[in-house]
Amino acid sequence: MIKFLDLKSQYQSIQPEIDAAIAAVIADTAFVSGPYAKKFEEEFASWLGADWCIGVGNGTDAIEIALEALDLPPGSEVIVPGNSFIASSEAVTRTGLKVVFADVDPGHYTLTADTVRAKLTSRTSAIMAVHLYGHPCDMAELKALADEHDLKIIEDCAQAHGATSHGKTVGTIGDIATFSFYPGKNLGAYGDAGAIVTNDADLAEKARKIANHGRIAKYDHDFEGRNSRLDGIQAAVLSAKLPHLNDWTQRRIAIAELYMTELAGIEGIALPRRANWARQVYHLFVIRTDRRDELKRWLADQGIETGIHYPVALTQLRAYDYLNQGGEDLFVNKAAGTLLSLPIGEHMSQADVVTVSKALKSFFS
Ligand SMILES: *Cc1c(COP(=O)(O)O)cnc(C)c1O
Repeated sequence: MIKFLDLKSQYQSIQPEIDAAIAAVIADTAFVSGPYAKKFEEEFASWLGADWCIGVGNGTDAIEIALEALDLPPGSEVIVPGNSFIASSEAVTRTGLKVVFADVDPGHYTLTADTVRAKLTSRTSAIMAVHLYGHPCDMAELKALADEHDLKIIEDCAQAHGATSHGKTVGTIGDIATFSFYPGKNLGAYGDAGAIVTNDADLAEKARKIANHGRIAKYDHDFEGRNSRLDGIQAAVLSAKLPHLNDWTQRRIAIAELYMTELAGIEGIALPRRANWARQVYHLFVIRTDRRDELKRWLADQGIETGIHYPVALTQLRAYDYLNQGGEDLFVNKAAGTLLSLPIGEHMSQADVVTVSKALKSFFS
């Protein structure tokens, strides 16, 4: 049995650290925000090389709050990649802005300056740069385009903790960035958690207020905000895991490189590509094949779990029928039926990768 994700084995490998971290929060009854949240915010900001980190309830809230803090013109357009998790676009609509889907590069699955330019209008106010599957967007070209057209950039880093674009760590390049610590992400809590990251002190203060009822001090409310704060237990779990993240990421990269070698030259599959300016952290290892469903069953029969990210492009979800983008001539509209995510994570051995690769080779031979 080769699991797609194995949080149990990860827990077992660091159990004393996790158990002690959780016990300390309970002993201190520091359940919401408080010292453990502050400690993790400081550690994560310093790990990224960012000035500010604001812990929030989850990665979706992080995007909504970041967009609200940017104070974009109501009804203006935000360009979002047509292949992502719905949180990337949902937050746009929920903050009174308009979603416009753009295509992605078929090798890296990210927005490019060309795909964004194809959807620019006089109403565009921002770009949602989703570093999907752990591959960063080309932030140099997106930033140049944003500067030229006076657009803001929000980085959705939910799948890309520690990825770099032209040597810069994602989350520190755009105007504001968001992270998810959903349990299955590269850095995952033991429940929901998220963060907003920025180098702009004013945006940081605004975001922190929005996430905490419009206040900094108790009962001193500047405006109406909402409740989305980092939970103390989640923060302590994240602080316990953060020192391991570089090792875990190196393991993911080594697995991906082994897949690349083992699967090279198989006719019938398209492997992901890594740009030479990118540190790809491989949240997912996604291949494409026209025989996707058949292959998925073949692997399942041999005890190999796989995933599909995502089975339906955002453009083709019922939720976005009103945009009429599902029939456009876009890569995302054609690719969804062919995507398959192979198992990857620090739970896998080299032998596991070879086993998966052999199963793929036998399927295609
Ligand atoms: C997981 C994810 C989110 C949302 O994060 P939650 O913590 O689950 O709310 C947003 N964007 C992308 C690309 C994600 O993968």
